[in-house]
Amino acid sequence: MKIQAAVLWEPGARLSIEEVDLDEPREDEILVAVEAVGVCHTDDKARQAKLPIVPPVILGHEGSGVVERAGAAVTRVKPGDRVLFTPDYCGRCRPCLLGRTPYCEDVIAVTFTGTRRDGSPRAYRDGKPVRASFFGQSSFATHSLVTERNIVPVPRDAPLRYMAGLTCGVQTGAGAMLSAMPVAPGRSVSVFGTGAVGLAAVMAAAASGADEIVAVDRVAHRLRLAAELGATHVIDTTGRDLADVSAEVVTVTGGGADVALDTTTSPAVIRAAVLSLATLGTCGFVSGAGDLVLPPTALQLGGRSLRGIMGGDINPTVFLPRLLDLHARGRFPFGKLVRNYPFAQVNTAIADSLSGEVIKPVLTFA
Ligand SMILES: [Zn+2]
Ligand SMILES: [Zn+2]
Repeated sequence: MKIQAAVLWEPGARLSIEEVDLDEPREDEILVAVEAVGVCHTDDKARQAKLPIVPPVILGHEGSGVVERAGAAVTRVKPGDRVLFTPDYCGRCRPCLLGRTPYCEDVIAVTFTGTRRDGSPRAYRDGKPVRASFFGQSSFATHSLVTERNIVPVPRDAPLRYMAGLTCGVQTGAGAMLSAMPVAPGRSVSVFGTGAVGLAAVMAAAASGADEIVAVDRVAHRLRLAAELGATHVIDTTGRDLADVSAEVVTVTGGGADVALDTTTSPAVIRAAVLSLATLGTCGFVSGAGDLVLPPTALQLGGRSLRGIMGGDINPTVFLPRLLDLHARGRFPFGKLVRNYPFAQVNTAIADSLSGEVIKPVLTFA
């Protein structure tokens, strides 16, 4: 079938919206009319060839929409059902079998090869293959092929124009607080970096009843939003030494944070987050580049922990309905992070995400 898709033809190029031929759904595949798709820094990393993906490719990995057709082997959804797409996984390795799909051992191939497992492409342009399985979905397009592995059904009236932004960074930040680390009433939390991941963490910490929530960033408007979403104290790091920032967290939490989360990817900031922990505290981080330098005693003497967290350490099938429920009860107002753009403005949305002007751009196809 003919679809409209945002294609990356060359590394670093702008995405070009054009007509592409999408394959018919195979037995295990689901054809979805995309209704909304979130934009994330990972899309831009792929665009700039900082990820192992080869153009031509259709990007987009936070899709959602309405099922149009389902292959004969599909049992979980039928035409008319509404779904969120999640990152794909192999379903066969040990972490996948344990339900810990963000830690899939085959994640690189599943996410970035951009074809079906048998190597066949899902899309063509003028008879030539276009990679259309980025994160198992390639959802910068009017239609997308997915499988039962990487969808989560949502209620008929679910506001996808917000929710499409839930399945990557927001889930990561929320899962870090609600699943990966011991956040509970009476505990103190610090969050370093208040983009989509960090702000989701602030909301989730507030929903968990954390006593003190300290948000740390160098962008004033993000810190204002953090305060609106539940941060009890904000620290603007502009022009400040990171050692001072750690010391301020220790002071305002009355001895250090029980839980810290770094979302900045900077080893220096991860170090500052560890040094802001209370005795027996836990620091998590969701990404990083470069080497982390930390005296072992910073962890050992106070029984502190440092752990890496992928995808919020959650199983999307179980966790996303929980987030939607928190949202319905007004305890996870993630709509405040979203600005909608028409699909035609995909390049503007990517630019606004990178500049930090918008926390979570979501493209719509209405
Ligand atoms: Zn993402
Ligand atoms: Zn796996």
